[in-house]
Amino acid sequence: MRYYSTRGETGYVTAAEAIMKGLAPDGGLYVPTDQAASFTIENLPTGSYQEIAYNIFKPYLTDFSPTEIEDAINAAYNTKNFDHLAIAPLHKLSDKLFVLELWHGPTYAFKDIALQILPHLLTTAMQKTGGKTEIIILTATSGDTGKSALAGFRDIPGIKIIVYFPKNGVSEVQKLQMTTQEGNNVMVAAVEGNFDDIQTGIKQIFSDHKLAADLERAGYRLSSANSINWGRLLPQIVYYFSAYNSLIQQEALQPGEKINFVVPTGNFGNILAGYYARQLGLPINRLICAANRNNVLTDFINSGIYDSNRPLYLTPSPSMDILISSNLERLLFELTGHDSERLAAWMQELKKCGKYQIDRPTLQNLQELFWSDYADDDETLQSIAAVYKSDHYLIDTHTAVGKAVLAKYLSRNKDSCPTIILSTASPFKFTGSVIKALFSEGRFEESSELELLKILAFETGTTVPANLADLDQKSVKHKQVIARETMLDHLLSSLNPGWLEN
Ligand SMILES: *Cc1c(COP(=O)(O)O)cnc(C)c1O
Repeated sequence: MRYYSTRGETGYVTAAEAIMKGLAPDGGLYVPTDQAASFTIENLPTGSYQEIAYNIFKPYLTDFSPTEIEDAINAAYNTKNFDHLAIAPLHKLSDKLFVLELWHGPTYAFKDIALQILPHLLTTAMQKTGGKTEIIILTATSGDTGKSALAGFRDIPGIKIIVYFPKNGVSEVQKLQMTTQEGNNVMVAAVEGNFDDIQTGIKQIFSDHKLAADLERAGYRLSSANSINWGRLLPQIVYYFSAYNSLIQQEALQPGEKINFVVPTGNFGNILAGYYARQLGLPINRLICAANRNNVLTDFINSGIYDSNRPLYLTPSPSMDILISSNLERLLFELTGHDSERLAAWMQELKKCGKYQIDRPTLQNLQELFWSDYADDDETLQSIAAVYKSDHYLIDTHTAVGKAVLAKYLSRNKDSCPTIILSTASPFKFTGSVIKALFSEGRFEESSELELLKILAFETGTTVPANLADLDQKSVKHKQVIARETMLDHLLSSLNPGWLEN
């Protein structure tokens, strides 16, 4: 399988090269040139999570040997890293409604599923492409990717990782998870700006060709742990198949029966993996794109106009506080039959005016599969309370957005397909909001977010996840706060002094 850029200005690369580079040199995203496989109902991948992963990875990673793929899967998806044997277990809410818990990894967000395996794919890719360069992973985070990438890349030889998070845009737990990170190759800085500022800054650094050449001479190469990297996206296709397979195993589904997925969406990486799963043959009826008050994607899916000229709100679901959803570019590339000229023009307009409009046929194409609405802050918190009341089941704020949007979908559409809500984080990552949703106003107002972890566990008869329980005993190692214009300077000063003279 070969890969090329959505903007069409760079040639073909192997999977190893696409994973190494992260972003294509023309600013586009790498996509597979062809459909990797066509599974039929009879031969959908089955078995354990690891076996399903192998069958999905193989046709995409044709330059990796079977052993290399297996080794990466086994190093990532085991009970040392995940606190559940199934890796991504399903929780049943009713006969037709299930929650796919994607947060059993070391940092309790769905990002772990991809970021536990990406370092292994990347080190294998480095060995294949030769060279002695050190890889610098530049990571923008809206809260969860940062910690997840730090946990995955910590102390991996030949790799350094730098994480930038929006100073005021993450939950207290998320922030502490990152700023207490240990490891010899990690750096974390808060940026005075929002996620979009950081992502834009990083994309600029990536498309600076002179910088890339200078770095290369000094022995460094930049790569990305964000979902712009194909190596992030590919592992996310797997759980759509594993979830479907689980429902068949539980006889909750007839083979071939169509299902819906509800996906709490920000950068469009998670839901795009669902699109690729459908392309591969998974019987998906609808992909429901659930947004929070930052509803740029909802407007886009309903009107065909992408307009990022609006204020960015800080919501209780901070990992979705994004106005520029990078992976939409990959979807539009697929929907237009790989028309890189049209794509490049839209992306140019987005860059210039913050806005673009797609043509009717592409919009109709999009609406056949995707449906979208959003939940505001109140609806999000109410949805946490409602699910807890009816099922005694705790969901986090992002999953709650999904649940609230599903209710809107069902009230407006006749659809009896079984539905799976992707649960993207543990409720303990967003304790402040979850407590606010469950208990009367002001009851725990005086408590710090770390105290709230214990309170939430006590009040709901659950336990604080192990890696959060000891947060209060860890020392804060990363205290830097930088202006958003200075990300490049920060990066350069973080590398070996003297690289510029080379
Ligand atoms: C990243 C994240 C999302 C959004 O996923 P995208 O792939 O960016 O659309 C939703 N919920 C949580 C908890 C996340 O960490």
